[in-house]
Amino acid sequence: NLTQRLSRVVKTIRGEARLTETNTQEMLREVRLALLEADVSLPVVRDFVAKVKEKALGEEVVGSLSPGQALVGVVHQELTALMGGDLGPEASELSLAMQPPAVILMAGLQGAGKTTTTGKLARWLSAGDHVQYGRKTGKKKVAVVSADVYRPAAIEQLKTVAVQVGVEWIASDASQKPEDIARSALDYAKRHHFDVLIVDTAGRLGIDEAMMQEIKMLHSVLNPIETLFVVDAMQGQDAVNTARAFGDALPLTGVVLTKLDGDARGGAALSVRHVTGKPLKFVGVSEKLDGLEPFHAERMAQRVLGMGDIVSLVEQAQKNIDVAEAQKLAAKMKSGDKFDLNDFRDQLAQVKKMGDMGSLLEKLPAQFAQAAGQLQSGQADKQLRRTEGILNSMTPQERAKPELLKASRKRRIATGAGVPVQEVNRMLNQFEQMQGMMKQMKKGGMAKMMRAMGG
Ligand code: GDP
Ligand code: MG
Repeated sequence: NLTQRLSRVVKTIRGEARLTETNTQEMLREVRLALLEADVSLPVVRDFVAKVKEKALGEEVVGSLSPGQALVGVVHQELTALMGGDLGPEASELSLAMQPPAVILMAGLQGAGKTTTTGKLARWLSAGDHVQYGRKTGKKKVAVVSADVYRPAAIEQLKTVAVQVGVEWIASDASQKPEDIARSALDYAKRHHFDVLIVDTAGRLGIDEAMMQEIKMLHSVLNPIETLFVVDAMQGQDAVNTARAFGDALPLTGVVLTKLDGDARGGAALSVRHVTGKPLKFVGVSEKLDGLEPFHAERMAQRVLGMGDIVSLVEQAQKNIDVAEAQKLAAKMKSGDKFDLNDFRDQLAQVKKMGDMGSLLEKLPAQFAQAAGQLQSGQADKQLRRTEGILNSMTPQERAKPELLKASRKRRIATGAGVPVQEVNRMLNQFEQMQGMMKQMKKGGMAKMMRAMGG
């Protein structure tokens, strides 16, 4: 991934004093390859590399400690900007400030996740989770309607989703024309004082003229304040063509990138933003109806860089665990030297509470996840229990001062946990590794961390 490539580059040019045309060229080649691997489309990569080059050779990096560090910094900064960081934090908010009902029109290919996202958004808005201009908007009265008259089960699917999230489903019928459905739903939403009406539409398997005509028609009937293009992150390169076609046909206001849980690379986010010029507003991270997150350019840049996504990890954690605990943990992680086995034990307990190991591990930097007990898929839960058993067999004092753990104590602990002594040693080694990582993080500087990861 990009991190590995960059850390290699950083190493090779560490000895050089500054960025020159030649060493920059070499580094940019690696960046280019890494982005292509991350499924970013070629024209986007070209533009991006040109921009990074311009900045890297420009005045912005003068005075930096090492050229490699400087380049990594520029790459991160530009990735963030490219994904919408340049638009500011408000770009990813929905705009609902209008005479109600605020209409949200969902557009995208079949299977992109429109119906699911309609349900997720309805849930999000009716729970009052939406933020506008830095403030929660409060609970919205939301209705949804399906204008998908082509697939037999489409209307029923939306009904099921609406019931699950507890919002009003406005009945429609496959024998109606989509624009008639839209008209009468809008009328209904007005008469019953809904704040928001979300209109789910039909997609096709590929871009097709009839579909474009239909969605344009729906747009003119509904005059939506938000027209969201829903796109599957796993589509990779194809996402670009689809985005262009929808962007040409409709005045899109934003993009929702779905199935990011299945695509660790996130490269599609770059391409789609670049092609449509529209902000990404949300990402879908699970097929469940709570699997929606507001888009963060900075985090997505880190994801593409391969650094893992600690911040959204902590957010996910907050849903299930004590907020105070999570903050304590985050603070500890920053002050690496104070992190002891007691914290490690607390952390494992939190990890257990969070459940869903798969999506959790994906977000951790690889080394960190490994150190946290070789938590590999399948083995994860079993290993977690053994590690916990070992930790529980220690006294609090031993956990606070692992250096107390000489041979006889280790034997006692192993017996208590019902594991061989080697396993106690292995766990302690992993813990030390993790402590080392945390110290690196504390000393800060992405470049340093990358060096630690690369070496
Ligand atoms: P539509 O044809 O655009 O309405 O797409 P659907 O909403 O019916 O979704 C198609 C499939 O993708 C369904 O099986 C959904 O459960 C799944 N899906 C949608 N969004 C996500 C997501 O964010 N993550 C995952 N893993 N699956 C998703
Ligand atoms: Mg659908």
